[in-house]
Amino acid sequence: MQQYSWNQLDNDTIVKSLDYSAFSERSSGIPKQFYPFFRTTHTRYDRDLTLRYKNISYSAKIIWKKPNNTRAVISWNQNLSSLMKFIFPSWASINPHDKDSKLGLVFHKTENEDSYEISFKRDNSEMTFGHIEGINEGHIFANRNLLRLSGIHAPPEAGIWGRQDEGSASIVLSGGYADDIDDWDYILYTGQGGRDPSSGKQIKDQEFTLGNKGLQLNKEYNHLVRVIRGYQVEYGPDEGYRYDGLYYVTGYERVKGKEGFLVCRFHLQKEKEILSPEDTEHPISPSERIEYRGNRLKRNVKYAEQIKEMYNYMCQVCNVFLKTPTKGYGIAEAAHIQAMGKPHEGPDTKANMICLCPNHHAQFDRFSFYIEPETLEIVGLDEFKGRSIKINSKHKVKSKYFEYQKQQYLKSN
Ligand SMILES: [Zn+2]
Repeated sequence: MQQYSWNQLDNDTIVKSLDYSAFSERSSGIPKQFYPFFRTTHTRYDRDLTLRYKNISYSAKIIWKKPNNTRAVISWNQNLSSLMKFIFPSWASINPHDKDSKLGLVFHKTENEDSYEISFKRDNSEMTFGHIEGINEGHIFANRNLLRLSGIHAPPEAGIWGRQDEGSASIVLSGGYADDIDDWDYILYTGQGGRDPSSGKQIKDQEFTLGNKGLQLNKEYNHLVRVIRGYQVEYGPDEGYRYDGLYYVTGYERVKGKEGFLVCRFHLQKEKEILSPEDTEHPISPSERIEYRGNRLKRNVKYAEQIKEMYNYMCQVCNVFLKTPTKGYGIAEAAHIQAMGKPHEGPDTKANMICLCPNHHAQFDRFSFYIEPETLEIVGLDEFKGRSIKINSKHKVKSKYFEYQKQQYLKSN
């Protein structure tokens, strides 16, 4: 088990993923293949080491477990343990049974064989949406590096942590955008891109790509985004960066900014201010309502976006393309055939999705019509009588989901 949580990065560097016991017991067993790295063998008994982080030394020990000296353990002092807990505030929420975590302690060899440089690392390859276990609203991070290590916001400089096929997980408000508004529970946030890196001035139009596209997806899928305020903004902390909780993206547009170029703007509303889905301006379909209050990525944005692209944002029922100001992007929705959530429990897969316009999506979810599983005929809508939908050859849709939705229709009509 242990060896999976240790990894060689290069000849002089290894990383250990910090499990719960590393924090609670201040020690960790060393797998055999890393004995040479720590210059230890069973013939060489306990010895003292120095672990250095940013020019501060912490004492550590390699101990061979008695009675047989068959297992080497590295342990470190209380000060280093406190530092680790400070750097990784979410440590207490690690599952005690997991040997792997996203938190890593990195050891680098030095000239001195009793001394190692250490650093900290976090695996942010997977974006985490919503609340991060163990980090409360109001937590202040001294700098961007600690913010990154916490998993709250990974990019070292960018304001948006987002991907154009998944959504955006977090944004940092650190000033600099002439058009931004911050009223605490309402934020008008300017997207990324088009700025001159040295002067910070807007020199090009912004596009709905990367993190901007990600924030657009947050609006479309009702996913919350974490907001962090930096010391630079009015409502920010005196120093460092503060995690200020979750916000909904309630709208967006691309308009000419104060500097004369098109900028992507996003309207954000603090989660707590929206009391119930009934309070929102735009009602959402029943299948989506179930996840509305949740704060995790429950729907696979990637699949839904792939479906919309596959059908060129055209409704499979009416074939209408509803254009937007962004060329090539239409208003379309990936509709689950067998609805997600209770009581239907349809899966979140492409085999269970079709591409519909918002009107036909709403009608489909309310069982105003169904698609005949064998013939794909549209049944229930007079204006489409006798017509059937077309399925892209790359789209492996499963007829059992159409059958399920049909049964719901028959119960309701
Ligand atoms: Zn339609």
